[in-house]
Amino acid sequence: PTALLWFRRDLRLGDHPALLAALDAAGPDGDVLPVFVFDDRLWGPSGNPRRRFLLDCLTDLREQTGGALVFRSGDPAQVLPALAAEVGAGSVHVTADAGPYGRRRDAAVERALGEVPLVRTGSPYAVAPGRVVKRDGTPFQVFSPFARAWREHGWHSPAARPDGVAWTTGVRSEDPPPTPDLDDVTLPPAGEAAATAAWQRFRDERLPGYAEGRNTPGTNGTSRLSAYLKYGCIHPRTLLADLAGLDTGPDSESARSYANELAWRDFYADVLWHRPESAREYLKPELQAMGYDSGPDAEELVAAWKAGRTGFPIVDAGMRQLLGEAYVHNRVRMIVASFLVKDLHQEWTLGAEHFMAHLVDGDLASNNHGWQWVAGTGTDASPYYRVFNPTTQGKKFDPDGSYVQRWVPELRDLDPKHVHEPWTAPGGVPAGYPEPVVDHASERLVALERYTRATRR
Ligand code: FAD
Repeated sequence: PTALLWFRRDLRLGDHPALLAALDAAGPDGDVLPVFVFDDRLWGPSGNPRRRFLLDCLTDLREQTGGALVFRSGDPAQVLPALAAEVGAGSVHVTADAGPYGRRRDAAVERALGEVPLVRTGSPYAVAPGRVVKRDGTPFQVFSPFARAWREHGWHSPAARPDGVAWTTGVRSEDPPPTPDLDDVTLPPAGEAAATAAWQRFRDERLPGYAEGRNTPGTNGTSRLSAYLKYGCIHPRTLLADLAGLDTGPDSESARSYANELAWRDFYADVLWHRPESAREYLKPELQAMGYDSGPDAEELVAAWKAGRTGFPIVDAGMRQLLGEAYVHNRVRMIVASFLVKDLHQEWTLGAEHFMAHLVDGDLASNNHGWQWVAGTGTDASPYYRVFNPTTQGKKFDPDGSYVQRWVPELRDLDPKHVHEPWTAPGGVPAGYPEPVVDHASERLVALERYTRATRR
């Protein structure tokens, strides 16, 4: 028989349990029909960087399947039953989706398929969301105990890459939706082989310094795997298996530190699984009463933040990296997010939406909970009164100014000691670069005062 394999966030053939399940269902004489469905509910709100990257990953996957990967567009609850009927599929295989929309969609597809089973195998995470719980069966609210329980739970070994898959051929495919080439954004090379090469390069060259280097945006200290993990070009289990081999050597601290970041990814997916509303709603509802700024002045400040023209160099460098690479270093994501919420007094949801429109790794769980963490409204959040000072953060984490000078050409001629405070340079702020748009010290007090008012009610 034919087994249908519906790809979503698992765009690879190695370490792919759902593919193995499909092969099993097809049996030695059967074949597997790989399909991707362009669903407007997901495609519509994705920004162009994510659309471009996803499409390039799909092109790579199609090549790997010898051209068999079929594209269809529309509502999966209509498309999949029709396709299953067209090829007489006995089962439809997927990697389980843990997001709020994905779960609803899959339930609808399952109902619409009727007699043909929808078989969920594996998840995009090391441990499937919802699986790690406290002793009393309730979900974790705080990262550290979650991470401990997550490590104790452990994960499967990577699944073998099948050789010689009999793909179904000759099935009609549609054109993907039109997607612009992005001349002014540099995206990572797409696909499974690129993901594996990026991981191996990082593991061999930069992982040893990761525990220290991960916080300095000026050095290429992190793995830059987030977009690959988002679309499943590589699975975290593959990485964890590799890291386990380094667990006792001189790199052990960095290996543990890297595994800990993968635990954050699993943690935020777990929070979203238990509380699907947390993608949009405050995890700390008392902070809903915070007052935010609006009106023409506020809009102008938000526009300056989006364009990287706030006059705070580390903030501007981060926002320009977002536009230039559809990516921002984690430390800088925290700094620019704190600046929007606590210096410009804007709701975190505005920043989260802007990030989702521009990030190539934009992911509902990691992004929206990352924003809630910084805004002080999340589970296990940074306490509200901890307000990042963009100038001291810049000096501490970009001490030689190299990150700022890469992204803010107006500041390239400054002596590094003035880069984070261009107003202290002998000639003042260089021409073409803005003066600070707000006074950080006084905006910090405004934020704290509003916080006290909101939480006193
Ligand atoms: P590395 O340091 O090499 O980490 C390895 C992997 O671990 C990452 O690829 C990622 O999958 C995971 N990871 C690392 N840090 C975190 C974290 N804090 N939370 C969750 N997972 C983590 N990450 C996204 O993947 N998508 C997002 O949309 C996203 N939005 C964010 C928004 C804000 C405001 C903040 C503060 C963080 C956000 N993050 C997001 C988390 C983090 O910034 C990125 O995962 C990281 O910068 C990606 O770079 P890297 O692959 O080089 O990370």
